[in-house]
Amino acid sequence: MIRRLRARQRPLSCQAVGRLLQAYLDAEVPDTAALLVADHLDDCRRCGLEAETYRALVASLARLSPPDDPERLERLRSFADELVTAA
Ligand SMILES: [Zn+2]
Repeated sequence: MIRRLRARQRPLSCQAVGRLLQAYLDAEVPDTAALLVADHLDDCRRCGLEAETYRALVASLARLSPPDDPERLERLRSFADELVTAA
């Protein structure tokens, strides 16, 4: 793992990134937090892979679900989220 010096903010831990990941990928976190998560995903292969997996899963679920059925999509997203947090 590459460690960079960051003067402005402490880097996030993998655990913190895991908690923010779903909201981050859904563009629901503030810009400052999103930047920290993005930095971490660049540096940390494990979390980067997790993000990729989640992103691909949500994308394929979105394709499978009718766009006018947000409840079904929400259930599938919860399922995807469980898979990510269980990893
Ligand atoms: Zn990490």
